[in-house]
Amino acid sequence: MKKNAILVINCGSSSLKFSLINPECGEIIISGIAERLSSPSACITTKYQGDKGQQPLSPPYAHKAAISELVGILSKHQLVEQVCAIGHRVVHGGEDYSQPTLITDDVKQTIVKLSKLAPLHNPANLIGIEACQKVFSQLPQMAIFDTAFHQTMPDTAYIYGIPYSMYQKHSIRKYGFHGTSHYFVATQAAKMLNRPLSDCNIITAHLGNGCSVTAVSQGKSVDSSMGFTPLEGVMMGSRSGSIDPGIIFHLIDQLGYSADEVNKLLNKESGLLGVSGLSNDCRTLEQAMLEEKHPQAKLALDVFSYQIAKSIASLSASLNQLDGIVFTGGIGENSSYVREQVTSYLSLLNIKIDTEKNASTRFGQSGNIGQENSRPCWVIPTNEEWVIAQQSYQLLNKE
Ligand code: ADP
Repeated sequence: MKKNAILVINCGSSSLKFSLINPECGEIIISGIAERLSSPSACITTKYQGDKGQQPLSPPYAHKAAISELVGILSKHQLVEQVCAIGHRVVHGGEDYSQPTLITDDVKQTIVKLSKLAPLHNPANLIGIEACQKVFSQLPQMAIFDTAFHQTMPDTAYIYGIPYSMYQKHSIRKYGFHGTSHYFVATQAAKMLNRPLSDCNIITAHLGNGCSVTAVSQGKSVDSSMGFTPLEGVMMGSRSGSIDPGIIFHLIDQLGYSADEVNKLLNKESGLLGVSGLSNDCRTLEQAMLEEKHPQAKLALDVFSYQIAKSIASLSASLNQLDGIVFTGGIGENSSYVREQVTSYLSLLNIKIDTEKNASTRFGQSGNIGQENSRPCWVIPTNEEWVIAQQSYQLLNKE
């Protein structure tokens, strides 16, 4: 049996997603998710050769139990022998990491240090790394950072208009996120242009539960809408995106909010959910808008689309040329309504979409939905797991 598959792990505080991938062609051999970790209802769901299976986890129901169960599942299907390395998605690499990195004790310590910049994500990522190290002690483990692709941004893009000492002393700057996704779809767009990525200038819009827009100049990220945290930029499922910072002082000083309550309001109760008062889910809002003529559902989708259009237009300032734009993520890949609304504001960039192509390019299809005389406007399904597998495999072969 060939030992050339990468186990990709994306570990959150209460879930652990995994896929075993052939890095050369992107084939997913087995995939799954362990959910509700650390609660008695924790379970693991797997997809293998078209079949779905689910089983409960044993106490203490946490990440280690999920990894042990995963090993059992891989052994049952005789897949353990195929795994040659493990690629971990790590959210924050700060300024320390701009490349895929072999995980050593020093790297783990840096991930811990960077937890102060990503308190919700890095500690969970580290739990996944340590659980895998215990069980797969013979295998190399790689970290692929969400921020790495954006480390090429110039200081004009990443410095905020606050005292410079905040950057020097406290690392407060724009980092940008969703790097693997922006990189992947930019690469795919370059293939459609039949040019090397290093010759391409593209704006990529990753629209999922989290949303970010990135300007890619000659294959490199030069600016992105998310910032110091994933809260900045366009509004998202339940995150506000950028708002007047003065609102925060008003909430605290005039309306009696605590810092925690503001945090919850802006991260969990805002965005599509907050404006619609209905749901953070684009599908639900589209249905409510069409079937019930729900005015706030329509408002939420329209504010969302306008903000994305403004973000694309403002990021065009960082490019000398624009070869096209890309929509990706659950919303970007599937919502013809959002794509139509966003592009309706972009005629000055010569982006005009073809209604029929827009309506038919969904559910995993990719293609250019632009009119004949328009700049290309691609829909490209993202595949972050494949990037993690490819980069881990390349690193493994370099080591
Ligand atoms: P995550 O950021 O968690 O990976 P996804 O990329 O899966 O999220 O995107 C989730 C979003 O995609 C949700 O708002 C969901 O409603 C939206 N979405 C998925 N399918 C469709 C569809 N057919 N039409 C409109 N929106 C969709």
